[in-house]
Amino acid sequence: MEKLLKGKKFYIGVDCEGVACVVGEPGNGLGAGEQYRFAAKQATREANAAAEALFELGAEQVVIWDNHGTGCNLDYDLLDSRVHITLGSGHRGRFPLLDQSFAGVMFIGYHARENTVNGVLAHTYSSKAYQYFKLEGRELGEMEIDAAFAALKDVPVVLCVSDYCAIEQARESFPWAETVITKKGLSWTSAVSKHPLAVCEEIKAAVGRAAERLQEMECYRLPSPLEVEIRYKRMEDASRDNLVDQNGKPFARTDAFTRKGIMDSIEDLF
Ligand SMILES: [Zn+2]
Repeated sequence: MEKLLKGKKFYIGVDCEGVACVVGEPGNGLGAGEQYRFAAKQATREANAAAEALFELGAEQVVIWDNHGTGCNLDYDLLDSRVHITLGSGHRGRFPLLDQSFAGVMFIGYHARENTVNGVLAHTYSSKAYQYFKLEGRELGEMEIDAAFAALKDVPVVLCVSDYCAIEQARESFPWAETVITKKGLSWTSAVSKHPLAVCEEIKAAVGRAAERLQEMECYRLPSPLEVEIRYKRMEDASRDNLVDQNGKPFARTDAFTRKGIMDSIEDLF
């Protein structure tokens, strides 16, 4: 029998906050200490579990995109030697070199958006800088924004792996996608987590389910043009904001903390 994913390509975005047994440091987000080191190790394991399951089902190519912070976090030696790895920072846009030849994107280690009660390490790009990102009047997070970039290349979202709150948000935005819950937040920096290795087994099973249902997977599209509203935490950041609208004019300042404007496309956000 021909394998389900024969010849197919997948791209896995990997952040670090959403993985099992990661809660960061109070007042400091994920930080750079013991929790950061564990997060990098567990993000490696979770991404690799997905990649191994994809290869077992016949996938031809799997790209793992290391995208937390500076983009250099994972333990590359421990990844399946067949994967390609996107790493580092300084490039534009999201999902570098993604194109129509890919059958799906996956999110591992992502987190709930800023302004989520009990979302573990919930934030949108920076917990120090932003109160929210509203697109077309709705607060959205990093998963939705990355999914919208994938949709520009007609690539659907097939799997999301994160904490309970982030998965609630993913199910609302991508009801077709398979999901795995890694932990349930008790506060911004505490959770009851599944065991790190048990989560990897769940990821393999979820990849199997996603493969069976690949035809049902959809793209998450944002309209173009697009209304963008960004609320900062600090007034001086709102005054420094240099986003421009579709006519090249600076975004309007709707109050001391908030900027708003119409962009041609989500691509113009980065
Ligand atoms: Zn991160």
